[in-house]
Amino acid sequence: MSVTQGDVSRQLVDSSVWSDQDLANHGIPVYDMPFVSVGGGIGSFAMVDTLRIAGITTDQIRVISDLERPSQTYEYLASNSQIRSGHRLRSDSSSTVDCIWGWPGYALREAWGKKTPGVAVQVLLEPVAADYYTPKAGQVYESLNREAARIRWNQMVVPGIVRHVRRRDRGDYFVLSTPPAGSAATKRIAFRSRFIHMAVGYPGVRFLDDLQAYRKEHNDFQRVVNAYEPHDHVYAEMRRRPCTVLVRGAGIVASRVLQRLIDDRDQHGAQTTIVHLFRNYPAGPQGDKATFRRPAAKGWAYQGFNFPKAAWGGQIRDHLESLEGDARRDFIDAIGGTNTAPRKHWREQLDRGEAQGFYLQGRGEVQSVIPIPDTRQIRTVVGGTTGLPTTEYDADFIIDATGLEANIEDHRVVMDLLRHVGAGKNVKGRLDVERDFRVRNADNGEGRIFASGSMTLGGYYAGVDSFLGLQYAALRIHDNLVDAGFGQRIGPGRSTSQWWKWARNTGI
Ligand SMILES: Cc1cc2nc3c(=O)[nH]c(=O)nc-3n(C[C@H](O)[C@H](O)[C@H](O)COP(=O)(O)OP(=O)(O)OC[C@H]3O[C@@H](n4cnc5c(N)ncnc54)[C@H](O)[C@@H]3O)c2cc1C
Repeated sequence: MSVTQGDVSRQLVDSSVWSDQDLANHGIPVYDMPFVSVGGGIGSFAMVDTLRIAGITTDQIRVISDLERPSQTYEYLASNSQIRSGHRLRSDSSSTVDCIWGWPGYALREAWGKKTPGVAVQVLLEPVAADYYTPKAGQVYESLNREAARIRWNQMVVPGIVRHVRRRDRGDYFVLSTPPAGSAATKRIAFRSRFIHMAVGYPGVRFLDDLQAYRKEHNDFQRVVNAYEPHDHVYAEMRRRPCTVLVRGAGIVASRVLQRLIDDRDQHGAQTTIVHLFRNYPAGPQGDKATFRRPAAKGWAYQGFNFPKAAWGGQIRDHLESLEGDARRDFIDAIGGTNTAPRKHWREQLDRGEAQGFYLQGRGEVQSVIPIPDTRQIRTVVGGTTGLPTTEYDADFIIDATGLEANIEDHRVVMDLLRHVGAGKNVKGRLDVERDFRVRNADNGEGRIFASGSMTLGGYYAGVDSFLGLQYAALRIHDNLVDAGFGQRIGPGRSTSQWWKWARNTGI
C-alpha cells in the first residue's frame, strides 16, 4: 500500500500499538506534550482550569478541538432546545463553571451586577419558599469566556479533530489528529503524551427509532424534528397558522419546548394545539421511603436537578462510590431517570393549557408514525398495549424531546479505546472508569487515560454530565496526576491566593 506524507495506512490504523518509527514512516510529525485533553468543550475547560490553578503552565497542556470557545457546543445544543442567552439553565447558583470555588455564586453576582437583590433572597428561600435559583445562560457563557481568557485557553488549543488514540510501544500514548485543511504542512499530526483526557461530550443525537424510521422512509426532516437540532422553522410556522404539534418526552427539554410553544401563544397570538405524549406516566410519587421520594403529577416526575443534590457531594455520592455492578446501575437509575424541574411558571402554563383545551396529554407506546394521505399531517398511533385503548393523534409537527445520547461506540475515538487500548464498558454500557475517572485497563507504562462527561455515566459518580460533575472529575483527576508527579496539590495557601487572582481577574 502506498503511503502519502502525513497520511495513515490501513495497517497503522489496524495495529493497537504504535512506535515512534511507525509515525516517522508515515511522515507524521510528532510533538511531545505531557497532558492532552481531547474535545475542547466544557469538560476540557473544567480540567484545564483546575490544572492551571494547580500551577501547570500552558506549555504542558494541549487541547485538541474544533471549537472557537469552550461553550460553543453547549450553546448550540442549548439554543436549539430553546434555552437562549436570556433563559435560565437547570443547574444552581453554585454550579459556577468558571470558578472551582463555587463562590460567589451566580445569584450573588446577578444580584450585584444587575442590581436585583431579589435573586439573592431567592437562594436563601429555595427550594421551600421559592423555586431553585438558576443562572441565565448568557451569564454562564460570559463568565466562562472571562475565565478562558484569564487562563490563556487559546494558547493551549490546537485546532483539529482527534482520529486515533494508541498505546506507544515504549509507554505513554499517541494522539493522532487532523488539523483544519490548509492550516498545517501535513494532513495528520501526533502528540506523544503521558496523560490523555477524553472529554468528547455526547457521541451524537439519538432519535426515537420510530421517528428515525419515519424520517428516513419519507425523507421528511422538516416536520419530524429533534429538540436538539435546529428547528425554529416549526415555531415560525405555528405563529403563521393554527397547527397541532405532538411533543414526546418528559424531561427538562420537553418542559422548555412546551414553554416556548405556550409563550408563542401568549405573546404572539399563535393558535397552537399541543399534544403531549408520555411513554411512562408515573401514577404517584417515585421512590420507596420517606427520605427518597420524588413527587410526580400529571405524568411528570419532579426533581430540582437531574439527580438529588447529595449525588454531587453528599451521602448519595458516598453511597454510590461503594456500589458495584447491577446495584450501582439500579441506584443510578433510581435517583435519576426522566425528570424535570418543578417550576411554578411551567406548571401554571400547563394547567392553563389543560383548562383552555390547547394542551392535551396522551400516553402509551407508539405503534406507528405514518403520513396522512392528501394532507400535510402525520399520524401517530399509540396504545393497544398495557390495557390502554389504541388512539390516533394527527399533528402538523412532531418534536422529539426524549434524549440526546447515542451509543458510545458511535464515537470513533471512544471505539478506538475499546478496540485497541483495552478500555471496557461499565454497567450502563458507557466507558468504564475508576473512582478517579481513570479509564480502567488503559494504563500504559506510566501513561494514563482519563475521561469525564456523559460517556462515563454508570461509574461511581452520578452527576458526570453537569458543570459541577465536570469540575468534580477534574479535581479527582488532578489528585491522581499529583500522585503521578504532575503538578502540585491545591492546598489552602494556593487555593486562597488563586481565588484572589480569580476575583481580580488577573493572570495565573
Ligand atoms: C441542552 C443542554 C443543557 C444543559 N444544561 C446544563 C445545566 O444547566 N447545568 C449543568 O450543569 N449541565 C448542563 N448540561 C450538561 C453538561 O454540562 C453539558 O452538556 C456540557 O457541555 C458537557 O461538557 P462536555 O465537555 O462533556 O461536552 P461538550 O461541551 O459538548 O464538548 C465536547 C466537545 O468535544 C468535541 N469532540 C468530540 N469528538 C472529538 C474529536 N474526536 N476530536 C476533537 N473534538 C471532539 C465535540 O465536538 C464537542 O465540541 C446541559 C446539556 C445540554 C445538552
